[in-house]
This record gives sequence, structure tokens and C-alpha cells, in this order.
Amino acid sequence: MKNITITIDVEEDCPPMLTSTRGMEEGLPKLLDLLKKEGIKATFFVTGVMAEQYPDLIRRIPKEGHELGCHGYNHARFDRMKKEEARVALNHAGSVLRKFEKQVVSFRAPNLQFPKSYLELLEEEGFLYDSSIAAYKPPFFRSGGKSKIIRVPATITSSFLRLPPDFFIPLIRRIKAPVIFVHPWEFVDMSELPIRLDCKFNTGENALSNLETLIRTLKTENYLFFTLKERANIEKK
Ligand SMILES: [Zn+2]
Repeated sequence: MKNITITIDVEEDCPPMLTSTRGMEEGLPKLLDLLKKEGIKATFFVTGVMAEQYPDLIRRIPKEGHELGCHGYNHARFDRMKKEEARVALNHAGSVLRKFEKQVVSFRAPNLQFPKSYLELLEEEGFLYDSSIAAYKPPFFRSGGKSKIIRVPATITSSFLRLPPDFFIPLIRRIKAPVIFVHPWEFVDMSELPIRLDCKFNTGENALSNLETLIRTLKTENYLFFTLKERANIEKK
């Protein structure tokens, strides 16, 4: 059985380079509409700050059948926090997000940077799955040591999906159970902004149409689209 997981990191536009939120206002509604139209469920890793600022949008996530996950409180990097600060940030973010969905069990750290020695904090704060690593590795493995957290690496970086679909779709097919990730701001035209090239190239309608092409192509190939939580449950059996 072929399966894929689409994850979305919900945050300010291209942090920390920008602090605008056009991705929230313009990109996220379009993305939610696309997933709804295609009948696809995804996992949204949302920062506490975005949930506080855009409650109506965040409400749509669980309401439309998606998984609501946690992306920290304010997109500060966990590898630059002391352990106690990390605990406070996780607790703060968790308590904001759990007002929208009781069961928030999946986590992804900003910049995919989360110290292994902090995994026990995730467990203490009620999380089960961590997708804070990027790697071409087996999709599921125990984190090792005492922690029960299951680590689920993101297999493809987001800018990759803004290359031509004829190029990236064959590569995705070769990955077993890929976990892809995108950001709402990628669906807004960022090309004129003074930010890194990999953040801005092919953003806007092209990025959305690429994602649509990917979803439609894989649907014709009988791929199943799972949220992170769903996949972890299947893998455990
Ligand atoms: Zn992020």
C-alpha cells in the first residue's frame, strides 16, 4: 500500500526573515479549500501565536478533519532554549492549541531543530509523535533511550515541491511513505521580497497548482493520504 503524509507548518511568512502574515490571510484559506476539494486530510503544525491571532482559521483545521499539531509557541528555535524555557514554550503552545482540539499529539520544532535530550519534555507535555527531523530514513522509529516519542522525519524539503512536477513527482514515488511539508506563505507570491531565493522562487499560484498536481497524480495511483497520527497508529499495529 502506497501512502503519503502532507504536513503544513503554520507560522508567519518565512520566519525569521519576515513578520508579515499574508500566508495566514491568503495562503491558508486556499490550501484548506484545495484539501477540501480533493478530500485529503493533512497534519497542520501550528504555532501558538498564529492560533491566538487567527482563531477562525485554526478552527477550520479540526473541523475539516485534519490533524492539529504543534509548531512551538512563537517559532523560537528550541535548540537555542534552555531546557526549562523549552518546557514553558511547549506547555504554552499546547494549552493554546488544545482549546481548538483536545488531542494535540504531534509536534514539529521550528527549523526542524529539536535537541534529543528534550524529547522527554514532549512526552511530559502530552505529545506522542515528533517530526522535527529531516532525513531519508525509515519513516518510523523509536527515539531510543527512555523516551516513548515516535520520531517521523520529514522526507522532502518544502521548496522542492516548487520545482516542476515532472521533476519532483518521480522522485516522490521512489520514497517509501514520504512526509512532505509546505507552509501557507508559499502559496502567496513572495518573489519580489528581499528574502532567500529558496523561500521565494515559484511561490504563489504556481506552488498551489504544483501541490494540486501532486495530489491528483498520486490519487490516480491509489496512494492513501494519512495524517501523521493515522500513520503512526497503522505503523504500531
Ligand atoms: Zn516553521
